[in-house]
Amino acid sequence: MDTEEAWTPEAEAAAVKEPPKIHRLEESVVNRIAAGEVIQRPVSAVKELVENSLDADATSINVVVKDGGLKLIQVSDDGHGIRYEDLPILCERHTTSKLSKYEDLQSIKSMGFRGEALASMTYVGHVTVTTITKGHLHGYRVSYRDGVMESEPKACAAVKGTQIMVENLFYNMIARRKTLQNSSDDYTKIVDLLSRMAIHHTNVSFSCRKHGAARADVHSIATSSRLDSIRTVYGVSVASNLVQLEASEYNDSSSFVFKMDGYVSNSNYVAKKTTMVLFVNDRLVECAPLKRAVEIVYAATFPKASKPFIYMSIVLPPEHVDVNVHPTKREVSLLNQELIVEKIQSAVELKLRQSNDSRTYKEQTVESSPSSPYNPSKDLHLNPSGSKLQKVPVNKMVRTDSSDPAGRLHAYVQSKPHTSVASGPNLSAVRSSVRQRRNLNETADLTSIQELIDDVDRNCHSGLLDIVRHCSFIGMADDVYALLQHNTHMYLANVVSLS
Ligand code: ADP
Ligand code: MG
Repeated sequence: MDTEEAWTPEAEAAAVKEPPKIHRLEESVVNRIAAGEVIQRPVSAVKELVENSLDADATSINVVVKDGGLKLIQVSDDGHGIRYEDLPILCERHTTSKLSKYEDLQSIKSMGFRGEALASMTYVGHVTVTTITKGHLHGYRVSYRDGVMESEPKACAAVKGTQIMVENLFYNMIARRKTLQNSSDDYTKIVDLLSRMAIHHTNVSFSCRKHGAARADVHSIATSSRLDSIRTVYGVSVASNLVQLEASEYNDSSSFVFKMDGYVSNSNYVAKKTTMVLFVNDRLVECAPLKRAVEIVYAATFPKASKPFIYMSIVLPPEHVDVNVHPTKREVSLLNQELIVEKIQSAVELKLRQSNDSRTYKEQTVESSPSSPYNPSKDLHLNPSGSKLQKVPVNKMVRTDSSDPAGRLHAYVQSKPHTSVASGPNLSAVRSSVRQRRNLNETADLTSIQELIDDVDRNCHSGLLDIVRHCSFIGMADDVYALLQHNTHMYLANVVSLS
């Protein structure tokens, strides 16, 4: 069947479309597109503003947010301020005080360098700057739109430093605004960002609050110790479950490949997802391969605590880091990245193994029974390579053994010969003593009761009885199940339905 239409010169002319004409975009469109990349969401604006404050040597940075940053982002600092003469070009694209020639990028120490952030904010929001410089009696306030001042700066009262206010973010980007309507989501991201900043920059105090709220959601004070700031920001439950970590690699005595110091969680820290706070040369960045490498170690070492908390600060020679690979500077590219990831992974592995091997369990001090050779005042060190078990094949190894006093539950409690289950092998004797204790008036002589007991004894599963008799109590798995061990098997016993 032939479905093709007959060829005609007119049909061919219609099929081949004219190439569209190329024209130059208006500058305002170019700027808005570029701004949309630098300021992807409210949290990116906060990050840029806070980094500017850090670059201005601030020791106190306060952030106020309304509607997840869409209505208002206000960042105030006590830094060196902005000169009056610089205000006219402050928000133009590519105006910066931090970089003059391309080569400076190789050794850049400041967070900013492109002179794009403030400009970008003026293309997608309304920016107002209030600033005062040292030695001046008053400050200036000025608002910006599309890179330029809306009017001359006005003299105003001001406290030390700079306050930058961004209002109505993305007012001219309808689609972006719509996708960001769930404002609580971005506020969470902002709180998260400031928490991370706060634990790294321990000499700066940070606060972050919702507009009108009395309480700040992040409130850090400048402290001398990293652990103190982690405790203030992330809480005691995180800070008390961390181990300190260091790693480094040197080429020779004079040059280094990298240095890393940080804190990672131990097996007591349990979370639903990994928190990785990573700074490379003081820049907050992400590094997926490093995160994965550390997670692998946790999954293998602490299967139940496989989602760690990680704080790491990596320092490299500045010329080994390319900071200019991402529009929001979220990622950096590192020379020797594979080697660095590998070294850090081994350092984490070693640290976790050490902390696992030397875990110390303190038991309640109980009076030791004279019959038991076990000394309860001694700490119990769990060492997986215990010499005592060396001759046993690996698959037959038991961590606790009911024949070993240390593994026996009753070794932990003071035994009273007449009431202890373990003291009398005769099950019915124990039962009657328990029954008598429960209800002294009850007579055990009733034949119906005796028949019931005999029935239970007859139907008793000998294997199960052996397990119950010779098992060791490991601990409570949750509120309902106790974990018991019998030889090389583990059992979960529902202790709620037992009682
Ligand atoms: P960059 O940080 O890349 O230089 P920005 O657009 O973020 O570009 O800022 C432009 C300039 O404005 C900075 O170089 C700095 O001189 C000045 N500036 C911005 N924020 C502050 C601030 N909080 N305190 C002092 N100066 C600031
Ligand atoms: Mg900047």
